[in-house]
Amino acid sequence: MLSARKLSGVRRTIRFHNFRSRSASRTSSNLAFVPTCLPPDPIEVEKLQHFVSNSKRLFVITGAGISTESGIPDYRSEGIGLYARTDRRPMQHAEFIRSASARQRYWARNFVGWPQFSSYQPNTAHLVLRDWEKLGKLHWLVTQNVDALHTKAGSQRLTELHGCTHRVFCLACGDQILRSELQEQFEALNPTWKAEAFGVAPDGDVFLTDEQVCNFQVPACCKCGGILKPDVTFFGDTVCPEKVNFVHQRLAESDSMLVAGSSMQVYSGYRFALAAQEKQLPIAVLNIGPTRLDHFASLKLNARCGELLPLIVALDPTS
Ligand SMILES: [Zn+2]
Repeated sequence: MLSARKLSGVRRTIRFHNFRSRSASRTSSNLAFVPTCLPPDPIEVEKLQHFVSNSKRLFVITGAGISTESGIPDYRSEGIGLYARTDRRPMQHAEFIRSASARQRYWARNFVGWPQFSSYQPNTAHLVLRDWEKLGKLHWLVTQNVDALHTKAGSQRLTELHGCTHRVFCLACGDQILRSELQEQFEALNPTWKAEAFGVAPDGDVFLTDEQVCNFQVPACCKCGGILKPDVTFFGDTVCPEKVNFVHQRLAESDSMLVAGSSMQVYSGYRFALAAQEKQLPIAVLNIGPTRLDHFASLKLNARCGELLPLIVALDPTS
């Protein structure tokens, strides 16, 4: 039998120092990019507790909203997400593939943003989900995020649906390297190039002018000279069918779904909610603001993931 990690499509293991405790000093909490919301309503907390207690094999899907409490902005939150604050939009797949100048711009911005982006740490919500996995409550975790915070927290029954910015691969030969190795190559190729980071996006992007970008040197694959691309599904690309099927299988083994920190606007994640609805699984949604599931979810809570999830007892000692 193939290991879960192999099946989930992770081709190269990234080692992080896992977080063993939930102490505040070891987690990151930065609420600058978290939309304001009321504290959790005790009645709503009780409903979510009931939902989790009744679940034996919980399928969890997370989005950018779970990482905002680690200081990473999301795209869509009203008034505070990247789309509301700026005219920046994420890289489009077709543009990256066809345009050398688009790749130069992407990598120059990504190079500047990397030291900060790679330093973000999991928050309490990531650690709670990691603990639920250890306790056998969480059957499978799917994240739409590319920030590696679930991996940093120590989650293993995990599929990174849209890949991870910590890995880079060659479009020609498929060779994979760590993003941190690429950073060293960038530094060697651009010893005098400098630009200040300004506002890191959910994918590690920062804003730079065309003038700043034009002299940035981008390395090719060391093995074959091919084009290097982050192991991330850009907008306009699709998740590979093997990964989608794998997630559908894990969902089929589950008895309920929890959506945490996602409005589910992107179809690649939303399709699993539709599949859960078709199977008539109970669905709970924890997100600040409206989601595409609100009209068919069993339970909807407007609350911060890092504030509400720690209130839930994963294993009821009386059951
Ligand atoms: Zn190559």
